Amino acid sequence: MNTEYLKITGDAAEDEHVIARAAEVIRRGGLVAIPTETVYGLAGSALLEDSAKKIYAAKGRPSDNPLIVHIALPEDAERIAYPGPLYRALAGRFMPGPLTVVLRKKACIPDTVTAGGDTVAVRCPSNPVAHRLIEVSGHPIAAPSANRSGIPSPTTAEHVLSDMNGRIDMILDGGPCEIGLESTVIRLDGDDACTILRPGAVTADMLGEVCRTVRISPAVIEPALADGIKPESPGMKYRHYAPRADLILVDAPHDAFVRYVRENASGRFGVLSANEDAGSFTGGMALLTGPRGDAKEAARRLFSLLRRADEAELETVYAELPPPDGETLAYYNRIIRAAGCRIVKPGESE
Ligand code: AMP
Ligand code: MG
Repeated sequence: MNTEYLKITGDAAEDEHVIARAAEVIRRGGLVAIPTETVYGLAGSALLEDSAKKIYAAKGRPSDNPLIVHIALPEDAERIAYPGPLYRALAGRFMPGPLTVVLRKKACIPDTVTAGGDTVAVRCPSNPVAHRLIEVSGHPIAAPSANRSGIPSPTTAEHVLSDMNGRIDMILDGGPCEIGLESTVIRLDGDDACTILRPGAVTADMLGEVCRTVRISPAVIEPALADGIKPESPGMKYRHYAPRADLILVDAPHDAFVRYVRENASGRFGVLSANEDAGSFTGGMALLTGPRGDAKEAARRLFSLLRRADEAELETVYAELPPPDGETLAYYNRIIRAAGCRIVKPGESE
């Protein structure tokens, strides 16, 4: 298959033309990679079973991992699911934006989209290209991250091209993604509580402005689920986001981390490090996460840096383990999976 690569230029008339062509691809059951504020999505109609099948095939995604359905306006959730007052309150505060809410699904959503389940995950993206494409196509759009399953999610159209060239109909290049990590996924528990199934830019504290109780699913923080335990958000069980390089996560104060890398690193290695530490690791490649303490910038860069490590054919990448809470919870959740849940504590035998 020939994959068309089209740029969003900022010229309103040109972009409208490009989006109209992409919408036509969606309506006839094809796949288009699109920019969103989180990561690039692999978009297909959520009303067509065949589109969902094509998405799983193009990604090499296990078919027991359901797809998020994207809508143009929060109230469009009514078309595909049964939203209640808590959904509306959350939508009023966080939509459009990086929040996905799991709701009971309506029959118009094929079982393939929801991996056989009776719930559907609903999101209303704020990226104007994604928004307009959903609007013009007239279809709700299933869109998982547009990477081959298992490797880091794409945050630029070039990443998508390298994973999906020849496998999908079209790629829309809308520049780099603003947030860089996937949306927060929540389940609603009654009238005023929710559970975070996957952390993202909408944090537990932010959800607490709307929900009286915010729980975090154990699958978010625990490095690995015990055999036989089924996570509620099936995506949490896979080794995920992983570079080919061996990613070694070090659980230690900053100074001990620097010492650990200096004493142990050899071969072609890189270090995920704040800009201020660029010169600390001679002989290694500095993979700069931004100014120290800037959690948003580090999140924006993470997947791109893991891909850069592979482009540079690094054998090993070292990274500090961030705290599993607040603004760094989403980063923590992604990086422990990228490391296959292996964490080194200097001083303890491995
Ligand atoms: P991705 O499509 O790569 O952004 O991943 C979507 C995430 O949402 C995965 O972790 C899925 O397991 C999760 N998800 C999608 N639909 C549902 C659902 N109906 N219930 C719970 N989790 C879901
Ligand atoms: Mg994904």
